[in-house]
Amino acid sequence: MAGEPQDDCLFCKIVAGSIPATIVRETETTVAFRDINPQAPTHILVIPKAHYENAAALAAGAPELAADVLRETRAVAEEEKLESYRTVFNTGSGAGQTVWHAHAHVLGGRGLEWPPG
Ligand code: IMP
Repeated sequence: MAGEPQDDCLFCKIVAGSIPATIVRETETTVAFRDINPQAPTHILVIPKAHYENAAALAAGAPELAADVLRETRAVAEEEKLESYRTVFNTGSGAGQTVWHAHAHVLGGRGLEWPPG
């Protein structure tokens, strides 16, 4: 069911605390932790605690929770003192999504080119 934890989901396991992560912020509805394979000096993932397979499912199924995630990307950027940063939601394998639990990447601390690859 939408929003329910999935046994085989890596990020649900991070939410549950059953696998380790470097958590930088947590709210009632979200967790933010450092990406294990950072693509910039700051690379943090913000996820909803509830399981939605990607940003599209999250936006359709729980738009207020999507807003919580977006609000937390700003809080992370502020804590990391990022003047410029990029917020990315990869949606679908063709766009590079590899973990099927909605997450926002917050990338900063270096110049970022546009368009992305
Ligand atoms: P995606 O490619 O947009 O789905 O992003 C998934 C991200 O999760 C990638 O940037 C991975 O480096 C990151 N990742 C995968 N496993 C872990 C983990 O255990 N801890 C933190 N980040 C992870």
